[in-house]
Amino acid sequence: MKVLVAVKRVVDYNVKVRVKADGSDVDIANVKMSMNPFDEIAVEEAVRLKEAGKVTEIVAVSLGVKQCEETLRTALAMGADRAILVETDAELQPLAVAKLLREVAKRENPDLMILGKQAIDDDANQTGQMVSALLDWPQGTFASKVDVADGALLVTREIDGGLETLKLALPAVVTADLRLNEPRYVKLPNIMAAKKKPLDKTTPADLGVDVAPRLKTLKVAEPAKRSAGIKVANAAELVARLKTEAKVL
Ligand code: AMP
Repeated sequence: MKVLVAVKRVVDYNVKVRVKADGSDVDIANVKMSMNPFDEIAVEEAVRLKEAGKVTEIVAVSLGVKQCEETLRTALAMGADRAILVETDAELQPLAVAKLLREVAKRENPDLMILGKQAIDDDANQTGQMVSALLDWPQGTFASKVDVADGALLVTREIDGGLETLKLALPAVVTADLRLNEPRYVKLPNIMAAKKKPLDKTTPADLGVDVAPRLKTLKVAEPAKRSAGIKVANAAELVARLKTEAKVL
């Protein structure tokens, strides 16, 4: 079984992002970039399936600027076998990413595509669902457990009411939720070994995809600053203040 894993390069989750002075976007100059945390979980799951003998090949795919190579090398160090970079300086929105992934899937013919449930930069939570629709493959989103049984995929999903288990025919699309696994710590020998693993490059033009943005960002702004809270002495004072000051009771 062959797995394609989509890994996005995003601003590291520890960085406090700043808005550009002209309000056009988030400023990513000189900011630490890392693999989207949900994509680390996606790679980890693919590697665990390979270690369990259920997967034979893992191909990591990233779409974006040249530096996405670093993100792909991390995926290779975690255990992916080879990588594909779809290189472009263009702004990629979820629909464009989904179309590019569809074309990569057509070339690679994977049995399974694993993505993160969302990218922590745009928080869109759209790509997995879109690529599943474009390929007409079944989808198991927000997966907290994945297993392969009798040529099908069992996906346990986190939903509002609790957990739901779906049986998906392959090929299928899965998006990884936080509790699916805890990604491994990458060790130096694996980082060195990853440098020798194959990394192929292509472009949106090669794949015949028009990536022109369909959405326009009007303005990016910092959230309003929260004012400091106050401490109340007891429940009676809390109720009084909620009535007279906050006027919510
Ligand atoms: P989003 O729909 O933007 O929240 O992204 C959901 C998931 O799609 C991410 O966790 C990645 O697995 C994948 N994805 C989105 N954008 C890219 C990209 N530029 N390169 C690789 N994977 C991506």
